[in-house]
Amino acid sequence: MKTDIQIAQEANMAHIKDVAAKVGITEDELEFYGKYKAKLSDDVWEKVKDRPDGKLVLVTAINPTPAGEGKTTTTVGLGEAMARLDKKAIIALREPSLGPCFGIKGGAAGGGYAQVVPMEDLNLHFTGDFHAITSANNLLAALLDNHIQQGNALQIDPRQVVWKRCLDMNDRSLRNIVVGLGSKMDGMVREDHFVITVASEIMAILCLADDIHDLKDRLGRIIVAYNFAGDPVTADDLEATGAMTALLKDAIKPNLIQTLEQTPALVHGGPFANIAHGCNSVRATKMALKLSDITITEAGFGADLGAEKFLDIKCRKAGFKPDAVVLVATVRALKYNGGVAKNDLAKENIEALKKGIVNLEKHIENIQKYDIPVVVTLNSFITDTDAENELIRNFCEEKGCEFALSEVWEKGGEGGIALAEKVLDTLENKKSRFHTLYEDALSLEEKIETISREIYGARGVVYEPAAQKQLAKITSMGFGELPVCMAKNQYSLSDDAKKLGRPTDFDIHIREVYVSAGAGFVVALTGAVMTMPGLPKVPAANGIDVSEEGNIVGLF
Ligand code: ADP
Ligand code: MG
Repeated sequence: MKTDIQIAQEANMAHIKDVAAKVGITEDELEFYGKYKAKLSDDVWEKVKDRPDGKLVLVTAINPTPAGEGKTTTTVGLGEAMARLDKKAIIALREPSLGPCFGIKGGAAGGGYAQVVPMEDLNLHFTGDFHAITSANNLLAALLDNHIQQGNALQIDPRQVVWKRCLDMNDRSLRNIVVGLGSKMDGMVREDHFVITVASEIMAILCLADDIHDLKDRLGRIIVAYNFAGDPVTADDLEATGAMTALLKDAIKPNLIQTLEQTPALVHGGPFANIAHGCNSVRATKMALKLSDITITEAGFGADLGAEKFLDIKCRKAGFKPDAVVLVATVRALKYNGGVAKNDLAKENIEALKKGIVNLEKHIENIQKYDIPVVVTLNSFITDTDAENELIRNFCEEKGCEFALSEVWEKGGEGGIALAEKVLDTLENKKSRFHTLYEDALSLEEKIETISREIYGARGVVYEPAAQKQLAKITSMGFGELPVCMAKNQYSLSDDAKKLGRPTDFDIHIREVYVSAGAGFVVALTGAVMTMPGLPKVPAANGIDVSEEGNIVGLF
């Protein structure tokens, strides 16, 4: 059996100008990064902006195992299958972070015969967007500390600096640090923190901004600290906005690559779905909707995280109305949710499957709360048995839910035809009456409680005293109308990663709340979730190398 990277390295890639031509983009409208990657210039948007939008399909999933359940794989395979059915489809994905590439989960280019390529480029440095975001973030941090050093005219309270430095790496040692040690010339000593780049507010801003002007306005609104009087100090106050915008000028342009079957894929922006809002950029999605008849996009982790935030943050802000949702399930994740240990997931276990299927049930019910038609797809593994497949198919049919088996990992687009036909049928015959879960006018507490009860199935919400204070302050500052970006572990519907399946009788614990004024949401940290992940005992990095022939090996 070939590994993902072996399959990717054998790909027959078309020149990216030929991929672009499939959706009517000319060579002049591309900014090339070698032969196989390009950014779309602003001319593309000017050309297409008045066209009607195509259909929007979101790919999401049940609660995953640590390996991931194949949303990217399904998104890619479904796009390829649509192309095989002569549909004009574009895939819209997030850019991978180095954190998971070198940690447990691996890259994010899809898998098997449903991948986007060039896979190594995408998983590593790609077109430099994350570098630009990291630089803009850390420029702001440097300007802030320098302002304090140079006399602190804005009266910034060094104990109330909320802006954190960032790095696109899993590095737990940087969660809590001290900066400014040394002599008087080495800065003011204060406690500081790092977040991973994909959890930084700049990443969210890049992904939610309409254009470079909106990007600049949002950057200016970022709250970096509070002054001694307790009032917010912003990036505009530090006169940082222009230089940050300059660093992000090209990063805001969507990237075009291709699948193994040369289907166009826009891969742009990459916030994590557990600790950030989890969706690719608004700009890429808007572009895809204008360029194609069907846009297939993925939101991160399970539907409790990625889909909820896609629907309640991204769609609310950008005015998108998704037409259908594809909910990815796997036999292994359902068994995992039924209590089977990670190492035993490949063995048939009907009892565990019956026990874990309540997780799928809850996610189906959740999507139905938004009044969007849902198609369940079983991402087929070669270890799955017929009895297991039938059980899931019957369950979905009993629930009145469309169901299709997907074999895109093994067969590429060909393995996604059954799913594509179900999706096309749904787009044609079922109407989406999409609405968000909650209204802007609810208080922040009511929003947190609505998501916790309705989506997670919680009994109630418990706030730590600090979080209560922060909520009162954020509301008094005038940010009560913003949507809430919940930060929660991805394994459980609850905030306790060990409560699998469909937990009941639990509370959601809100530890900390802060406003991302530039992104336009309020972040609520639940349970023990971390904005800077750590590496596992045996990191994936240990298996990555460059061969004698100069090829990257071990990346997956
Ligand atoms: P997600 O986007 O949901 O996190 P991915 O599509 O990235 O998941 O897939 C996670 C991992 O699982 C990848 O390494 C991929 O190769 C592997 N994978 C996905 N689908 C299958 C499958 N049907 N059989 C075997 N491995 C798979
Ligand atoms: Mg993915």
